[in-house]
Amino acid sequence: MPITVNRVSVPVVVDDEKCIADKGCRVCIEVCPLDVLRINPASGKAHMRYDECWYCLPCEKDCPTGAVTVNIPYLLR
Ligand code: SF4
Ligand code: SF4
Repeated sequence: MPITVNRVSVPVVVDDEKCIADKGCRVCIEVCPLDVLRINPASGKAHMRYDECWYCLPCEKDCPTGAVTVNIPYLLR
């Protein structure tokens, strides 16, 4: 899987302001069946480490603070 370079170009974006990973939250990382979300060592917040996604949405739905946005490609809607 390609490692993501530009976070705004990936399908799953985490709002650093809302993410409480610094308080120990790992919900999105744990629910992702593809294991593509990780903690960004630079920010201490969750981010999409690998640009691979099934658009199954538990990361967005289960995030306690609504920090995760999954941008579903137009052709899949
Ligand atoms: S579930 Fe939400 S608050 Fe928790 S680590 Fe993921 S993005 Fe951050
Ligand atoms: S939509 Fe599904 S596959 Fe994509 S990052 Fe979220 S949990 Fe993982």
